[in-house]
Amino acid sequence: FQVPVAVNEPVKSYAPGTPERESVLAQYKEFYKSTVEIPLYINGEEIKTGNTRNITPPHDHQHVVGSYHLAEKSHVEKAIETALEARKKWAKIPWEQRAAIFLKAADLIAGPYRDKMNAATMIAQSKNIFQAEIDSACEIVDFLRFNVQYMSEIYEDQPESSEGVWNRVEHRPLEGFVYAITPFNFTAIAGNLPSSAALMGNVCVWKPSDSQIYSAKVIVDVFKEAGVPDGVINVVYGDPAMITDTVLASPDFSGIHFTGSTKVFKDIWAKVGANIHNYKTYPRIVGETGGKDFILAHPTCIEKQVATAISRGAFEFQGQKCSAASRVYLPKSKADKILEFVKKDLATFKMGSPEDMSNFITAVIHEGSFDKLAKYIDQAKADADAEIIAGGGYDKSKGYFVEPTVILTTNPKYTTMETELFGPVVTVYAYDDEKWEETIELVDTTSEYALTGAVFSQDRYALTQATDLLQNAAGNFYVNDKPTGAVVGQQPFGGARGSGTNDKAGSKLNLYRWVSPRLIKETF
Ligand code: GLU
Repeated sequence: FQVPVAVNEPVKSYAPGTPERESVLAQYKEFYKSTVEIPLYINGEEIKTGNTRNITPPHDHQHVVGSYHLAEKSHVEKAIETALEARKKWAKIPWEQRAAIFLKAADLIAGPYRDKMNAATMIAQSKNIFQAEIDSACEIVDFLRFNVQYMSEIYEDQPESSEGVWNRVEHRPLEGFVYAITPFNFTAIAGNLPSSAALMGNVCVWKPSDSQIYSAKVIVDVFKEAGVPDGVINVVYGDPAMITDTVLASPDFSGIHFTGSTKVFKDIWAKVGANIHNYKTYPRIVGETGGKDFILAHPTCIEKQVATAISRGAFEFQGQKCSAASRVYLPKSKADKILEFVKKDLATFKMGSPEDMSNFITAVIHEGSFDKLAKYIDQAKADADAEIIAGGGYDKSKGYFVEPTVILTTNPKYTTMETELFGPVVTVYAYDDEKWEETIELVDTTSEYALTGAVFSQDRYALTQATDLLQNAAGNFYVNDKPTGAVVGQQPFGGARGSGTNDKAGSKLNLYRWVSPRLIKETF
């Protein structure tokens, strides 16, 4: 390769007494007692609109750590105009320079910005340090470094030529600008969606989730320091419908890179369809949306292994992962034992602010999410075909805390077996051991989503059966492992059906979506 071969950024331990633990805590405390004002970022300029909204940590919702400025329509139009202007140069500079800028961004995050990235993610998205480290330090760095490597491989991918004929492909950026809409749950995804398109020579308008703006600001600072030219990535905050409508009304809209809810993505797709006659080019529509991810255990499974997959797969980061295990199918012969292990794990999970690093569970992202979870928990308490066997408590007096909750149901189509909750609630159904094949069928047909899933067995035939019959039920399918924790460069991530366009984040396939190749045949 002409670029450094990418390797995964090592995860730091933050064990008690380590300097890294002290250092990130100091940064956390410094952020916590100050307030930051976050302007829009258009053409490299910070724009204050005067219309602001406060930022408060989900675990301490009366404490203000900053505010952000809300865009008007004219700011979004300016962001588009500016991006198109910047494109004139950005699309033409040698790709090695783009690579160098984003490799520099990776080094800044891995080094001097690491504490800031982690502390911001801990404060505004309520991640504990270990989950923040995996996300806002390692995964974002991995995205940047692996994408540079994939980019170089894409450019090397050239057709055959013959005597007197030279065929070559120019992997041009899309003609126009790309719109990135990013979620609260991964700082890494937030950084990846605009940067992967920009790396391939595109210019962007980026709208982060309202709940992730605090860490998005750190990313913006990194991109600036790394040398991303003004106008290449423009950041706007505010009313999502207004921003999206303004973006989609532009004839130069050439693609969307989205992670968020299924409903919003489908609505955007419909709006793109309604505007299709106005666009200069068919826009690329790339999205990762919801999940209702399963764990399916065969009677030959190892109980402890399945229990660990449930405890970690369902509750890490309060279950706020698209990939989180949220419906579980256990054989009756082993269900009690597996659930006993899970309860033992849960008894060790402390809940509270991420500032206390012994807390494993922190708050869910906002009041809307809290209220939705509380509603489903209450319903499970009342319903005859459901029973809460662990957790079930919630309290929003200081922060949006929901206990890790296990619902056991006798109804395989129970509402929480089907509905995405995006929180620390998992629903378990125990099936008759002899109904293995019917249960596979249930797994396949119960949810509209197909993001991740895991099957557990020590029987090769059963594994093969599940793998075959569930071939469309998950874009990331795990055998004897939890359904979460995809690592860039190792498990490209994405799902189909209601879960997205399956363009695999952190892969060459994804980067190909951000180019529009031109074939040149030249005859001598
Ligand atoms: N890539 C993450 C994982 O494998 C999930 C990303 C998401 O929640 O969107 O756990």
